[in-house]
Amino acid sequence: MPSSTYADFYRRSIDDRDAFWAEQAALIDWQTPPQQICDNSRPPFVRWFPGATTNLCHNAVDRHVPKRGESAALIHVSSETGSERIYSFNELHREVQRMAAILLSLGVRKGDRVLIYMPMLAEAAFAMLACTRIGAIHSVVFGGFAAVSLASRIEDAEPRVVVSADAGMRGGKVVAYKPLLDEAIRHSRHQPESVLLVDRQLAPLALVEGRDHLYAPLRMQYLDAEVACEWVDATHTSYTLYTSGTTGKPKGVQRDTGGYAVALAASMRHIFEGQPGETYFSTSDIGWVVGHSYIVYGPLIAGMATLMYEGLPVRGMDGEPDPSIWWKLVEKYKVTRMFSAPTAVRVLKKYDAAHLRQHDISSLKALYLAGEPLDEPTARWISEGLGVPIIDNYWQTESGWPILTIANGVERKPSRFGSPGVPMYGYNVKLLDENTGAELTGPNQKGVLVIEGPLPPGCLQTVWRDDARFVQTYWSSVPGRQVYSTFDWGIRDADGYFFILGRSDDVINVAGHRLGTREIEECISGHAQVAEVAVLGVADALKGQVAVAFAVPRDAATVADEALRLRLEGEIMKRVDAELGAVARPARVFFVGLLPKTRSGKLLRRAMQAVCEGRDAGDLSTLDDPTALVQIRQAMQAGKPISAAG
Ligand code: AMP
Repeated sequence: MPSSTYADFYRRSIDDRDAFWAEQAALIDWQTPPQQICDNSRPPFVRWFPGATTNLCHNAVDRHVPKRGESAALIHVSSETGSERIYSFNELHREVQRMAAILLSLGVRKGDRVLIYMPMLAEAAFAMLACTRIGAIHSVVFGGFAAVSLASRIEDAEPRVVVSADAGMRGGKVVAYKPLLDEAIRHSRHQPESVLLVDRQLAPLALVEGRDHLYAPLRMQYLDAEVACEWVDATHTSYTLYTSGTTGKPKGVQRDTGGYAVALAASMRHIFEGQPGETYFSTSDIGWVVGHSYIVYGPLIAGMATLMYEGLPVRGMDGEPDPSIWWKLVEKYKVTRMFSAPTAVRVLKKYDAAHLRQHDISSLKALYLAGEPLDEPTARWISEGLGVPIIDNYWQTESGWPILTIANGVERKPSRFGSPGVPMYGYNVKLLDENTGAELTGPNQKGVLVIEGPLPPGCLQTVWRDDARFVQTYWSSVPGRQVYSTFDWGIRDADGYFFILGRSDDVINVAGHRLGTREIEECISGHAQVAEVAVLGVADALKGQVAVAFAVPRDAATVADEALRLRLEGEIMKRVDAELGAVARPARVFFVGLLPKTRSGKLLRRAMQAVCEGRDAGDLSTLDDPTALVQIRQAMQAGKPISAAG
């Protein structure tokens, strides 16, 4: 078990829940301080701090104005347009009030939804903060989503106003947003009353008479606007965010106000150790949960400057390739805490590690990685390259903040390669046997990772307008027990560290043996010639399923050269045989130049699996690069057919 200090902290959070969270609640400002801490009278619906009133925007912006009004609050950098701009807390305060005044002028009121469909612009953060300032509910839709996905989210959220822009940019190419938005609104049964548009002058902007409004002139009109924060009940919904990777009807994760603010403030102290006046840099996008929690709200609540970056990890401010751009920004803005994803590190890993030390990164104290399994070779590469602790953290859109990691702000503990860490305070994490629902208490037993209710502050309240789906999806998977399922496999070692073995819904079953694709991926990516790998279960007449691997070789020539391919495939199979046993050996290893991923870096396993099984790949609206699936098809055609024989 963790040593006593964190162990005590954790125990208290579970055994003396109300006292624990009452203390954490003191980290934020309240208009009416909490009298009641946790109302769990109607599980699994939990209400944190009911009756207390607060405001997210006040906690993120206004309360810092008197003390550090002139300090940096939002640093916006775009390597796409070569622009950089620092907003102090004073300036952010003014910009947010201008945006709030505009939204009010467009008829937005407390409880109304505002859908934000924007690239990584400072105005996107202003819009989020302006919404929570006036008690409106924001629903940010990732800018990369296309019209059909956007339309289904507009229908579900029913926004009064949509905030958008003419275009984003990616790798130097203009990506027009407005035509997609127009098409989405045409497809949608719900019609927003107004569309507010930031014109970056990157793409032509055709305005719809009476519906569309340009931001710049309205901003001028409300330059001196003063809009007070609307004090809302702690349980008031602050935002909804649609989960990635789901098919069919989108699932709006719904979050409260007070619990979320407390959870973020606590995580900034206990997990991320952010100090007021320092700079936090999360490389995520505001369209994802990390962007909400750790680009916008978390760092600002902690009084830190937050660096918001539009651009690729390997492209400089002048548009030329530069795999050291992030570290240049770390040096320039004295970033102390940085948050990214393993995928981004794997992109950097294709370049020489010397790039990591090209700039003075002595301000950097830690790099936090989350969103997908952090394989050991990637963790080692970046850890050795940067010379700072790499802290894996496991969580979900639903949780809003880490479920498993190391709370170094409570007690400094070593991270273990391959493990995101231990359960965070407030999360009563358990491993259950999938079939019987029995709790697994011994070391190294594989089970489904579940959380006993009530979920701690900051987690989803429900699924937007669908309480039944919330209960059905998350709380009903274990027979006879109401526990929240993460749908992830995990094990816990003898010291209490957890290891995530992949989604329980991605489990593969080879000849009756249950295998986690993660284990096989980890083994294969340990091969020096492999940059990245995805393993999936593909239907097989003989064994039920077989594992198939798609690997991105470090040497791109391998993809086109049959002899090199066969040699590397053989080596990989030997490695799996030796490390995991022949049962885990993939039936085939195919080589591709890139893997099909969403724009947030998640592997599209189901689409790959469908292609392997000759089925329709389904909804591909989240696919980042369509050539990736073409490569999968080509690789399969070039190789021997998948067969379990042998
Ligand atoms: P999302 O809600 O899109 O962020 O996806 C959450 C899922 O990503 C989790 O249920 C895990 O399957 C995976 N995930 C997130 N963080 C980690 C991590 N640190 N290690 C392993 N898997 C992770």
